[in-house]
Amino acid sequence: MAGLSGGMETTERPFDFGPLRSRLSSPTLLTTDLSGLDAYFHDATEFSGQPLAILFAESTQDVIEAMKFCHERRIPVVPRGAGTGLSGGCVPSSNALVLSTERIKQLIINERERTAICGPGLITKELQDAVAKFGLAYPPDPASYAESTMGGNVAENAGGLRCKRFGVTKDYVIGLEAVTMDGRLLKTGVLANGRGFGIGDLLLGSEGTLAVMTQIAVRLVASTPRGTTILASFDDAAAAGRSVAEITSSGLIPTVLEFLDGDAVACSNEYEKTEGLEQVAALLLMETTGEAREAQTEIITRICERNACSGLKLEPDAEAAETLWKVRRNLSKAIRSSAKAYVSEDVAVPNSRFAEMVAFVGEMRQQSHIRVNSFGHAGDGNLHVYFVSTTGSDEDRAEMAARVGQLMVRTLELGGTLTGEHGIGLAKRAYLALEFDRPTLRLMQDIRVLFDPRGLLNPEKIFAEDKK
Ligand SMILES: Cc1cc2nc3c(=O)[nH]c(=O)nc-3n(C[C@H](O)[C@H](O)[C@H](O)COP(=O)(O)OP(=O)(O)OC[C@H]3O[C@@H](n4cnc5c(N)ncnc54)[C@H](O)[C@@H]3O)c2cc1C
Repeated sequence: MAGLSGGMETTERPFDFGPLRSRLSSPTLLTTDLSGLDAYFHDATEFSGQPLAILFAESTQDVIEAMKFCHERRIPVVPRGAGTGLSGGCVPSSNALVLSTERIKQLIINERERTAICGPGLITKELQDAVAKFGLAYPPDPASYAESTMGGNVAENAGGLRCKRFGVTKDYVIGLEAVTMDGRLLKTGVLANGRGFGIGDLLLGSEGTLAVMTQIAVRLVASTPRGTTILASFDDAAAAGRSVAEITSSGLIPTVLEFLDGDAVACSNEYEKTEGLEQVAALLLMETTGEAREAQTEIITRICERNACSGLKLEPDAEAAETLWKVRRNLSKAIRSSAKAYVSEDVAVPNSRFAEMVAFVGEMRQQSHIRVNSFGHAGDGNLHVYFVSTTGSDEDRAEMAARVGQLMVRTLELGGTLTGEHGIGLAKRAYLALEFDRPTLRLMQDIRVLFDPRGLLNPEKIFAEDKK
């Protein structure tokens, strides 16, 4: 993938960061020697770019100093968490400073109020593990939860496997502290003293383009024990899609409702075999929890049987269920290890149209030279579609780009959205105008200009053309 370079009126390298070093809590936090730091040039996509320098901020004050310095000198700033993003959101341009918040990791848990205030660098799992000691839970669980940071989760409004039942990141954030490009400190929600406009809502999902998050307050809930795992296999992918629609329209909200098409299952099996799942057209992996879990399990079982599922496994024991979960958990690693090049898309459609989307992906697979597979949080209508090339040839890459375009168009025809949870970033900005009309797009750009008139914070992301 081509590297990035800023198109705006900004600084070119080499550049003297000395004056900024002296304002930081330690001068060593900023480095211009980027050898061995290639990981900071990209996220989990193929986009990449080499920045001018990287700052490993350790406090809100470090972030304020860096933002003021870069604003004065017109240096673009690209906020970064753990770099697990799937839309190119933290990929820097060559004239930018990467501002990593991964070291801002403080955590204060208020057991009585069932809230926590954490630094943006705290890993999602670190928060979950820490609050579990008090019998509490932070439910949003992106599949990347063992690596992704809370800052990245807020910036992308991350979803996850249990989000149909428990909600996504925005449903738990109750306050934010953030720094704007010109160094102003914003506080929202419980971290602010008053009410007023819901600025925090704008920051949620803003993909690092409006402000850099430095503190995140979240609400917690009582933790619920793991429930019964149900694995239903199908000889017909559309029948699995119909089951998803019927389960959701029945009013049932299973804790987990994941879909995997046959090629995704095959890919996972090539990586590590799961006995008895070698030849399926699709799988539904589900979990029911709570007091009504037996009744829910029965209804789900009946719906799957009515749709002619070819196999059904029930596992009430959480530890034993891990064998069934393996087929889903291995998937991202499996796809990556089989690919020379891949593009991952995360479209979402209304549940009632899920079967049509699954059928469309199946048609693309039949017509394609490249591998096409899909899986995702079906309960939310989310379908992750992977276009995989085992050669990395130009021909395969051209086909991937064409197929992505077709997927986007079909998604919108089905009343869906281009991104269920991974964000627009660089990956989908060319398609944004298909989803939003001109006045809405303009208003979004106007809001961005209001926060950052010089267009320096995470430029080039979300919008195909920057409005300065
Ligand atoms: C295997 C795998 C599975 C995944 N599963 C899911 C899933 O189930 N659900 C889901 O939603 N996503 C998923 N993702 C995508 C990704 O993990 C999420 O988008 C996550 O929230 C990114 O967090 P991060 O810390 O890695 O952020 P990064 O990739 O570092 O950055 C992502 C965006 O956040 C911005 N950002 C980071 N920190 C800050 C900050 N402090 N202030 C302002 N902006 C900031 C960046 O500029 C960028 O735009 C998955 C990714 C992988 C690789």
